[in-house]
Formats: sequence, C-alpha cells, structure tokens
Amino acid sequence: MTCLEARKRIYDYLKNKLPDAELKEFIEHVSKCDACMEEMRITHMVYSGVAELDSDEDSDSDLDIDGALKRQMTESRFYLLRLFVIKVMAMSVDTIVFWAVLIIFIMQMRIWLL
Ligand SMILES: [Zn+2]
Repeated sequence: MTCLEARKRIYDYLKNKLPDAELKEFIEHVSKCDACMEEMRITHMVYSGVAELDSDEDSDSDLDIDGALKRQMTESRFYLLRLFVIKVMAMSVDTIVFWAVLIIFIMQMRIWLL
C-alpha cells in the first residue's frame, strides 16, 4: 500500500469502516510509515473534537487522544490476529478432512482390490 492509498483510508479506518482485506495492509503501512501515522494522529484529533492543537503539550486530553488511537490500533491488530487464527484453523480442518477422505478411499481401494 502506498502513502496515498493509506491516506485515503485513514478516515474510514477511524470510523471502523475499513474492509478486512484493506485493514491488514493499512495497519502494516501506518506501523512502518511515520508520515502516515502522524497524518492519522492529526485526523483522529480533529474528529475527536479537539480543536485546540496549539494548547500546551502536556495537557491530559492530548495524552488521552493518543491513548484512544493506540487502543484502536491495538484492537485492530488483535482483530487481524483473530482473523488469521480462524483462517489457519479453517485450513487445518480442511487438511484433516482431506487426509481422512484420502485414507478412507485408500482403505476402500484395498478392500476392492484384494
Ligand atoms: Zn505512508
């Protein structure tokens, strides 16, 4: 995902409207790209209704906004991890079913051929 693509998705992400397929690439990009992360922080602050960006750096509300964004990103990572685990488990079940069918088929062949 490029910076341009990531930036187009910041608003959707903050509103939890980003499709699963795009969420993974988006999180991966902003985790690595400081510029897009900063862009998201600013967008998040604006939509969180914090207009006084030039107020003192140490204000608690500033920290809370950052904390809220970090929490959202952590939740996204857990969400993606859960999707991954579900996918792996589904694949494992598929594999088990495949081998079970194959073994039953081989046993059946032996009965037929012997
Ligand atoms: Zn970027």
